[in-house]
Amino acid sequence: MTPTLPNITDLSLKELEATLRSFGEQAYRAKQLHQWIFSRNAKGFSEMTTLPQPLREKLALEFSLLRPQIIAHHHTVEETCDYPTEKIMLSLPDGEAIESVLIASGDRMTACVSSQAGCPLQCTFCATGGMGLHRNLSGGEITSQVHELNRLATAKKSGEGITNVVFMGMGEPLLNTENVIEAVENLSRRSYSLNLSQRKITISTVGIIPEIIRLAKSGLKTKLAVSLHAARQDKRLALMPVAASRYPLMELQAALSEYVFLTGLPVTLVYMLLEGVNDTPEDARLLAGFAKTFLCKINLIDYNANINIKFSPVNRATKDMFTRYLMDSGIHVTVRKSYGTTINAACGQLATSGEYNRKNL
Ligand code: SF4
Repeated sequence: MTPTLPNITDLSLKELEATLRSFGEQAYRAKQLHQWIFSRNAKGFSEMTTLPQPLREKLALEFSLLRPQIIAHHHTVEETCDYPTEKIMLSLPDGEAIESVLIASGDRMTACVSSQAGCPLQCTFCATGGMGLHRNLSGGEITSQVHELNRLATAKKSGEGITNVVFMGMGEPLLNTENVIEAVENLSRRSYSLNLSQRKITISTVGIIPEIIRLAKSGLKTKLAVSLHAARQDKRLALMPVAASRYPLMELQAALSEYVFLTGLPVTLVYMLLEGVNDTPEDARLLAGFAKTFLCKINLIDYNANINIKFSPVNRATKDMFTRYLMDSGIHVTVRKSYGTTINAACGQLATSGEYNRKNL
C-alpha cells in the first residue's frame, strides 16, 4: 500500500533538522526525534514523550511512520551447519520487497543487508541482477532493516544482538552511497541503541570507482570489499558486463591504491571460483599480480549452485591450487565458508520477484 503522507523514516538527520526548523522548533528537537525513530524504534509519534504534545500532533498530521515488515523467514537445513542461517524477506512501505540474511558464526552475528530493491548491474552469476533495479532504499529503510534483524537476533537463546553488518545483500551499495553512509552513521551513533563500531561494518562493491574515492574521503572507518571475480578484463566483462565496461580493471586497481593511500585501510578482494571460467593457473597469476600493488587480502568463495543460472563451483584441488599460488606470492588469503545455500541465502542468491521468488519462499 502506498502511504499517503511522506514517511518520516525516509528523512535524513539534516532533513529532519530542516523540517523542524520550518516548524519553528529548535535543532535539538530534531535529534530527539531522530533518536526516537532510529534508536528507540518508536512505532508512532504518540510514543515520543520527550517531544511536546503539539509537536507530536503536528508530526502526525504531516508524516507517516512506516518501517520494513518481515513477511517471510527461512532457516537453513544443512546438517553440517553449527548454526542456522536465516533468510528474511521484508516488505517496504510502498510494496517493494527485499531480502536480508542473518549469519551466526562463532561469537559473531552478522546481518547481510540490502541497499537497493533489485540491482541494475546484471552480473551474470547473480539472481538479484536478473531483477533489474526497482529502487534505492532510503537511509532510514536500511537502518530499520538492521533493527528488524537485530530484534530477531536478540530474541534467540543467546540473547546476543547483531555484531557485524555487511552490505552484501540485494543491490550495489555504491550506487546508493549517500543513503548507505546515512545508514552507517545511524548504526554507529554512540548514544544510540545499536552503537556498532564502523570497523564491524563492511561495504561491498563491484568497483564503482568514483564512489570508492568518495567513500575514502567520507571519513567513515568501514571496511571495503570489492567483488573482483576475474583479473582479466575480458573475463570480468563476461561476468560483470555493466560494472567491468564502465570501470576497467586497470582503473579499478589505481582507485583501490588511492583508497588505501587515503584511508590507510586494507581492501578485501572477493573472488568467486567458477569452474572453467576463472579457475586456471593463469587466472591465479593475474589475480596475484592485481593484488600485489596495494594493501589487501583475498577472500576466495565458492559458487553456490543457483536454480536459474548456469555456473558450477570448482573442485577441492582447484581451490587448493589457487590458495597455494596466492599464499606463495605473499598474499593474505582466506577461504570463506558459504552459509545459507539450502535456502538461497548465499552470495548471489537473493531475489524477490518472478518465478524464482515464488519457487523459493
Ligand atoms: S552481484 Fe551485486 S552488483 Fe552484481 S547484479 Fe548482483 S547485487 Fe548487483
